[in-house]
Amino acid sequence: MNCGLVPEIVLKVAVSCWAKRNGFVECVSDVDTSGWLDVSWLEGFRGVVEAIRFCSKLEFFMSIVTGSVSESLRSFLSKPKQMLIDGEWADAVSGQTFDVYNPATAQVIAQAAEGGEPDIDAAVKAARAAFETGPWSTMTPSERGKLIWKVGDLIEQHNDELAQLETIDNGKPFSVARVADVPLSADMFRYMAGWATKIEGNTIPISVPYAPGAQFNALTLREPVGVVGQIIPWNFPLLMAAWKLAPALTCGCTVVLKVAEQTPLSALRLGELIQEAGVPAGVVNIVTGFGETAGAALAAHDNVDKVAFTGSTEVGKLIVKAAAGNLKKVSLELGGKSPNVIFKDADLAAAIPGAANAIFFNHGQCCCAGSRLYVEQEVFDEVSAGIAEQAKQIHVGDGFDESTTMGPLVSQEQFDRVTNYLDLGRSAGAQMICGGDSIDRDGYFVNPTVMVETSESMQVVQEEIFGPVVAAMPFQDSDDLIARANDSVYGLAAGVWSRDGAKAHRVAKAMRAGTVWINCYNVFDAALPFGGYKQSGWGREMGHEVLNNYLETKAICMSL
Ligand code: NDP
Repeated sequence: MNCGLVPEIVLKVAVSCWAKRNGFVECVSDVDTSGWLDVSWLEGFRGVVEAIRFCSKLEFFMSIVTGSVSESLRSFLSKPKQMLIDGEWADAVSGQTFDVYNPATAQVIAQAAEGGEPDIDAAVKAARAAFETGPWSTMTPSERGKLIWKVGDLIEQHNDELAQLETIDNGKPFSVARVADVPLSADMFRYMAGWATKIEGNTIPISVPYAPGAQFNALTLREPVGVVGQIIPWNFPLLMAAWKLAPALTCGCTVVLKVAEQTPLSALRLGELIQEAGVPAGVVNIVTGFGETAGAALAAHDNVDKVAFTGSTEVGKLIVKAAAGNLKKVSLELGGKSPNVIFKDADLAAAIPGAANAIFFNHGQCCCAGSRLYVEQEVFDEVSAGIAEQAKQIHVGDGFDESTTMGPLVSQEQFDRVTNYLDLGRSAGAQMICGGDSIDRDGYFVNPTVMVETSESMQVVQEEIFGPVVAAMPFQDSDDLIARANDSVYGLAAGVWSRDGAKAHRVAKAMRAGTVWINCYNVFDAALPFGGYKQSGWGREMGHEVLNNYLETKAICMSL
């Protein structure tokens, strides 16, 4: 064991805790150690031995959990997790912290500052000052674009380290995080960096019927909306931060980002990289803490011009209410219960693994997961059995294990939620043709599940489970299908599998959903807008459409 990796302070605290726990400090209070620990040398020595054991366990735990984690990640995890406010790393005003868990082991891996209303207030003040008077507001679009591009470069340079953070904090396989979450995050910053110099208004020919003969020059400017509060979930911690921060910064806004309590780590590391890129103090502020306190304070803050939220539809509605105080602008990316449709003329060799990926990717913890599977009657048994077979091939385990293709759910709460839905489905009459249970080990592991004998009247078909659970249902023809597929309060995404291109496009057009994938699923790109119809949200993420979330339009009219 190399104890040099463990900061001296940890050792001191461990020894001192040991001594206090054993009541030793009191009984040797007359011993003058004139040092950092009030214990006699003998008991002090025993304390040190126990502390070394503690360090040993810590490091053993780290090496088990993180395998070959990078030195920079070890160093990052060993530091207290503070918040980024006005360019400084700060504890919560209250001094409170909360535990951060590894969902694969249910062990605490870090403590994060528990930000609350005063911390949000300080962050908003910093963002306001940076917006009104800081260098961000006077920087040219080209300079701003270069800084945003640099953040993308730094993310790419720290790919493995960020992927490891996602695995240890969220549970997703390291092999997935390093090829999907992190590169997509880097790409988001780079795609948006290009837009910094292309945010343009229009010149508009106007007629003004009540001013005959008068001439005007009329134009529009696109201007940043101001100080933006952003609240993100835990399912793609780094990527959600990138989806939110990159376009807001591109538009010239300043930001207070509230990250999810379950997964604060990668966004904090991103904060360090944003500083390293040279983004001025106060432009990006990152607050850790709970939704009901820090999140609610941000959504309600009178000095915030806009709030952008990703998470549950239930909390999305609370955000809208909280925003009413100063009528701040709101954009929402919310839940889904997306229909994935397989026609009998589909290439089943592609559709079956495609439908498995649609639901099981990220352990089903995707807002767009293809969780309602509609299969044309003639091929229903073949397809549902094929997906069940795919599910059985999935290796559920610790995300650092190379053979793992599905990690744990993110938290005890999510585990309880998903297993409760499995019970609900069973008692409503659904048959589990694979999975349907959890795995008896530490951590929050659930087996990928395919349910048949389901119908639209069941809760498991109507409500977002947000786990690796798909409800498969047969359909007769397109007419029968469309109404059933659209029978949901959500409208985030849909999938269609068919060799008949015209039919697939007709169905895609009929779907009330923000994204429809044809003969593919879960295809994301920084250039492709993403967002929901109905209760799946307001506004779009990504593509140039997202810029509308962070811009105001100003019309200027001059008499000539
Ligand atoms: P939430 O909607 O509660 O959390 C999303 C974010 O909102 C988190 O940062 C959370 O903070 C914050 N938040 C919670 N309450 C408030 C509030 N009153 N005011 C402001 N911010 C708040 O999702 P959960 O984590 O509870 O997950 C529950 C369900 O939501 C899932 O099972 C899934 O169905 C859905 N969901 C959908 C997501 C999507 O991408 N559309 C993502 C995540 C969940 P904190 O976590 O710190 O409490």
